[in-house]
Amino acid sequence: MADIIKLLPDHVANQIAAGEVVQRPASVVKELLENAIDAGASNVKLIVKDGGKSLIHVVDNGSGMSEIDARLSFERHATSKISAAEDLFNLNTKGFRGEALASIAAIAHVDLQTKLDGADIGSHLKIEGSKVISQEVSATPKGTSIAVKNLFFNIPARRNFLKSNQVELRHITDEFQRVALVHHEVAFQFYNNGSELFNLPIESFRQRIVHVFGNRMNERLVPVEEETEVLKVSGFICKPEFAKKSRGEQFFFANGRFIKSPYLHHALIAAFEGLIKSEMQPGYFLFLDVDPGSIDINIHPTKTEVKFDDENTLYAILRSTIKHSLGQFNVVPALDFEHDNNLQTPYSYQGKEAILPRVTVDSRFNPFDEGSQITKKAGNTFRKESAEGWENLYVDSVENDTPFSSVHFESEIETPDIFEGETEDLDTNQITFQLRRKYIVTTIKSGMLVVNQNRAHQRVLYERFLGDDTLKQGASQQLLFPLQLEFTVQEIEQLKGLCENLAVLGFILTFDNEEQVTVSGIPNIMTETSIGMVLAELVENRNDSISPADFMAKTLCKTIALKTGQAMDAESQMALVNDLFGCKESKLDPFNRIIYTTIETEAIEKKFM
Ligand code: ADP
Ligand code: MG
Repeated sequence: MADIIKLLPDHVANQIAAGEVVQRPASVVKELLENAIDAGASNVKLIVKDGGKSLIHVVDNGSGMSEIDARLSFERHATSKISAAEDLFNLNTKGFRGEALASIAAIAHVDLQTKLDGADIGSHLKIEGSKVISQEVSATPKGTSIAVKNLFFNIPARRNFLKSNQVELRHITDEFQRVALVHHEVAFQFYNNGSELFNLPIESFRQRIVHVFGNRMNERLVPVEEETEVLKVSGFICKPEFAKKSRGEQFFFANGRFIKSPYLHHALIAAFEGLIKSEMQPGYFLFLDVDPGSIDINIHPTKTEVKFDDENTLYAILRSTIKHSLGQFNVVPALDFEHDNNLQTPYSYQGKEAILPRVTVDSRFNPFDEGSQITKKAGNTFRKESAEGWENLYVDSVENDTPFSSVHFESEIETPDIFEGETEDLDTNQITFQLRRKYIVTTIKSGMLVVNQNRAHQRVLYERFLGDDTLKQGASQQLLFPLQLEFTVQEIEQLKGLCENLAVLGFILTFDNEEQVTVSGIPNIMTETSIGMVLAELVENRNDSISPADFMAKTLCKTIALKTGQAMDAESQMALVNDLFGCKESKLDPFNRIIYTTIETEAIEKKFM
């Protein structure tokens, strides 16, 4: 047989490599920003269009490249950063594999202009899909400008795989923030479709954090500083009362690189133990400096995982350092009520009973009254057809309450579906009780019904939000004292995007400036105390895969539903169960989690055999 093995042409090899290095526009942003930093720039400008799909442009005032280097920089394994394998262990640059530019040029249109400091003239190079289109001399300022256009133009499958511009922009923003946070000694500007998202001067780390995440960050930060033989920790943690539900503001930088480390993250969680609820996330911005020889950075360039030699020791040091800082700055366990209350998220108060939203099912309505608040609000009367199913759940407890229940046993199995069978009148004396302030327990025909109160209430609210006409017309309550809330520029942009839907629900928002919004009206069913929480939730967890209306309904019901831990009186318990079974869907909450379970009498019987 003839020889069949051949070497792949360079442009094919580059495309394959590109698949690993460049997953999405944000990967290109990361590589270009890091190159600019490695080139010693003190000013870096990032310009993107359409979530980076049509343009990613990075301009720096760093070292620049000679004419020959400019050409070489696009070759694979072309790097100025290492020359021998040993250099890998003493790296203080971001790049070292010489792969990024070659990869990017293989799958995009690249336009490079660069000039060395002191040189009279610079070079201008155009490359499309690894092919050099032109190389000319050009008059350009000192430094480098790289524009990457039409990413994945020659890999349609990859291009189609990209998410919406907004999602890609969010990934880019994440990468930008990571680089910008570590390099506060560098000024950054970031523009998206012509509008400025960030303009960061050279500043201290603390100022940089505040600049990136908004003014409200300033009062939240607690400094951390510790130096031991194996590890130097510095930076900031956020006070426990500002812990969030999402993991947004958590940054480890190991030897100047952003890293992810679930293990060290756990050390932080352990340090905050007892200060924040288990589902809450502490914010942190920490530099970890270790001996470069003790950290394995020889990993894939796009990955952020690293390996430390002695993780256990680092864990212990980190945990005690954080505990120490929390103690030293007196943030344990007292709560600082000096803060602007508007910015406080009530759910983060430690040890404080969650504030019961006034929308709870308490007393405002009687479920057995056709004209109850909830049924009225739902825009129609109690949905009879589905309610019947629920009524049928009840048993005449006297009838079945016999020591010889096995006699009734058989007949009960005959109607295993609790929603079928003949209708019985609703037993208004039905006993319910709350288990661990989390579940409502009651009896049904076939045994016992256990309802998760939080999920049930979410379902009830959700259907009201989506179905309620009065709500759709913006039934709004005016606030006597409008609330001013601060957000970051990006968050304000997000809120603006949701503005129309917010108005439909009854929110009245005025955007005062690029970091502040005034709330002068809220939906009727909401309480003032939850405004900050609801809006924060809306901007933090925007999910582009669902419609804005659905997203808002989900967020609202998630934030204002009865929580686990809230005590409910008997009437409210019954009312909630009734409303639940009046819902179109009563088995699953808006997030597709099971709302209730039943325990068959048979199963209980078996335990006594
Ligand atoms: P690496 O960063 O791993 O060395 P890259 O492909 O990212 O590989 O870059 C190749 C080389 O091109 C770098 O080593 C550097 O010498 C040069 N280079 C890239 N970007 C710049 C820039 N913005 N300014 C100066 N030199 C650069
Ligand atoms: Mg690089």
